[in-house]
Amino acid sequence: MTDLDEVRAQVAAWLAEAWDPELSLTQWRNRLADSGWGCPAWPREWCGRGLPAASAGMVAEEFARAGAVTAPEGVGMNLAGPTILEHGSDELKRRFLRPTVTGEISWCQLFSEPGAGSDLAGLQARAERDGDGFAVSGQKVWNTSAHHADFGLLLARTDWDVPKHRGITYFVLPMRQPGVEVRPLRQMNGHASFNEVFLDRAQVPAGNVIGEPGQGWTVALTTLAHERRLAPSARRTPEGGGAADRAVREAAEESERAMAPYRWYPQRAGRPDLVIERAIAAGRDTDPLVRQEIVKLITLAWSARWTAQRAAAARALGRPPGPEGSVAKLASSNIARAAARVHAMIAGPAGMLAGADDPTGGTVSEIFLSVPAVSIAGGTDQIQRTILAERILGLAKEPAADAGVAFRKVVTNG
Ligand SMILES: Cc1cc2nc3c(=O)[nH]c(=O)nc-3n(C[C@H](O)[C@H](O)[C@H](O)COP(=O)(O)OP(=O)(O)OC[C@H]3O[C@@H](n4cnc5c(N)ncnc54)[C@H](O)[C@@H]3O)c2cc1C
Repeated sequence: MTDLDEVRAQVAAWLAEAWDPELSLTQWRNRLADSGWGCPAWPREWCGRGLPAASAGMVAEEFARAGAVTAPEGVGMNLAGPTILEHGSDELKRRFLRPTVTGEISWCQLFSEPGAGSDLAGLQARAERDGDGFAVSGQKVWNTSAHHADFGLLLARTDWDVPKHRGITYFVLPMRQPGVEVRPLRQMNGHASFNEVFLDRAQVPAGNVIGEPGQGWTVALTTLAHERRLAPSARRTPEGGGAADRAVREAAEESERAMAPYRWYPQRAGRPDLVIERAIAAGRDTDPLVRQEIVKLITLAWSARWTAQRAAAARALGRPPGPEGSVAKLASSNIARAAARVHAMIAGPAGMLAGADDPTGGTVSEIFLSVPAVSIAGGTDQIQRTILAERILGLAKEPAADAGVAFRKVVTNG
């Protein structure tokens, strides 16, 4: 029996005894936090079991098999928890980790600004000492789920007299206060995933700094590394939720709210999985040009899948991350665009129809309007090419006019 088989047997035995769908969601998640099975890779003293990261997928499979509710999905478990675990004080861990696992608090990420996306370290939100804490002013943008988050992972500048990477501090911002105004954004594909967040002397207690003041960039790199590593989640809210299954019903309601911003994400990847059935259904699978483009697309998509599998296998063996992340990011942009082109060839003008007017339910038009996001989110194609050129191919570094210059003296558009 391998170590992983042993873990699988342990979690299955625990679920057989402990899973009780009649509990309230919070009661069940508290049981989960006590057991450590909600986040098995976290340390034992902080709601985990200290198991290798590779065990998480397998534990999630056992939860799915038992029909049991997991820890909540989203920014809290994926970004806030790991960042606080790595850089937070014990006081921050005590206050924030357990309620994140139980889902009693929710999170959003407040990094990007109108003038700081690719150049994130050029951010201009300003945090000033104010009594025992800090007052933060500025504007953030692209903030998924900010409209219902209790806390934000916030980057703000605390020192303008040092180079840009050195004057940033990382805060836990309480969102529900008068200095925080959240305005939803609607995208061209009709969904409303993001918000703008306006900060006007928003108050942050001094104890809410993650890491040291001025060291926020190092902490942010941890969050960004976890963000890039995010694979499609193996977690699933179990089906069911009849009157007796209180935990399942409450988890389904929570998931509906938390996952709503991501509903269009399959379409933004271009849906290469749909092209063959669509081509056959539309009678376009005998067209030599369509067949040729389908095969080109599927070749790209399968190669990318195998690269991702090789990267996952290397990670499971504890090898350091290679260039696969940036290669995969660029490949996903190329695949999404190629898939949108093939869907256009198959659907013809009908692909422009939306919603009930379209016999295919509007999927194709949603693909057309969503695919551009892949080349921007998580770092644009141009930025990925620069990373590959400098770090993998060893080409000369991009010139940086602001290197070593106090941020106050850097010319910005803000
Ligand atoms: C779907 C989606 C989800 C997102 N989710 C989040 C999120 O959860 N959290 C968050 O903080 N942000 C998020 N973002 C924001 C995202 O990180 C930024 O949009 C992205 O980094 C680009 O920044 P920008 O929009 O300011 O564009 P800019 O940085 O202004 O870039 C504009 C153009 O200039 C090019 N460019 C910029 N600098 C260079 C350079 N040095 N060399 C060559 N070309 C360059 C870019 O490639 C791009 O084509 C999301 C964006 C999208 C579309």
